[in-house]
Amino acid sequence: MAKLSLVVPVYNEQDTVALFYDAIEKERKNFSNYELEYWYVDDGSSDKTLERVEQLAQKDNNIHYVSFSRNFGKESALYAGLEHATGDFVAVMDVDLQDPPELLNEMLEGVSSGEWDAVGARRTTRDGEPLIRSWFSKLFYKLINSMSDTHIVEGARDFRVMSRQMVDAILSMKEYNRFSKGIFSWVGFKQKYLEYENKDRVAGNTSWSFFGLLKYSIEGFIDFSRAPLLIVSVLGSLAFVMAIIGAVLVFVRALIHPNVSAFGWPSLVVIMLALGGIQLLSLGIVGRYISNIYLESKRRPIYIARKVK
Ligand code: UDP
Ligand code: MG
Repeated sequence: MAKLSLVVPVYNEQDTVALFYDAIEKERKNFSNYELEYWYVDDGSSDKTLERVEQLAQKDNNIHYVSFSRNFGKESALYAGLEHATGDFVAVMDVDLQDPPELLNEMLEGVSSGEWDAVGARRTTRDGEPLIRSWFSKLFYKLINSMSDTHIVEGARDFRVMSRQMVDAILSMKEYNRFSKGIFSWVGFKQKYLEYENKDRVAGNTSWSFFGLLKYSIEGFIDFSRAPLLIVSVLGSLAFVMAIIGAVLVFVRALIHPNVSAFGWPSLVVIMLALGGIQLLSLGIVGRYISNIYLESKRRPIYIARKVK
């Protein structure tokens, strides 16, 4: 019998852990011809999440978990889950039931038939989300897809069922700075997305703040595009061209008004500020790439487990 592993990252989700389990067990009849194992990954929760998972694990032998020594972030949790999953097919799901379990069966059929290596889910609406957040997210997909060779599917969730082969490919990417949306796409393979309408969490709160999301998007750019570096070079070249034009103008003006030696202090200040700004911005962008090299070169582990069962 083929086996399906469910990888579920959980961070301060004491209220949703059991609800998720119940929802999957209810859906279970639709794929009862598969063995099922759960891999909850407790991402260093500070509430009773781990306790709740342990309670479930006592009831059901198919429930396993990895518990981190601290909060490492969802990307690390996903990696740990994939690493421990033993299934022929692996599903990645959020615990808050924003990823509808009803889609699991169709995803599984798509992958197990061999037609697809991964079937994911993509939300077509963003109801229930602050407008400004949707707007920024649209902008993010537009920008990153115009700058990166790796196509990032708009609205795609991490929710997906993957073949063993694809999971192994993802695990072979050992990078420390992980941006799953990019990694899922970078590995290639045949992938399909089912569309569905956005759902609210069953309980608890999202752990993403606006700035958290902003940082996450910047990480995406740095990890999957070198275009920002090109932009820096273009800005530098433009400034240089303008400097030459300026020099010519100054020279010509000196020929026309040979007796006036000082012209345009205010404009000089503006130019200095503009150039200083461009330089600092460029330094910042280059710095982000260097800091990623720095982190990669330390070869720190992607996560540290405190408990595995
Ligand atoms: N999560 C995690 N580590 C974190 C933040 C979130 O493992 O540092 C998990 C969380 O428990 C949930 C999933 O990632 O299962 C998605 O988180 P959330 O619902 O907060 O994000 P959203 O759905 O708002 O994008
Ligand atoms: Mg959620």
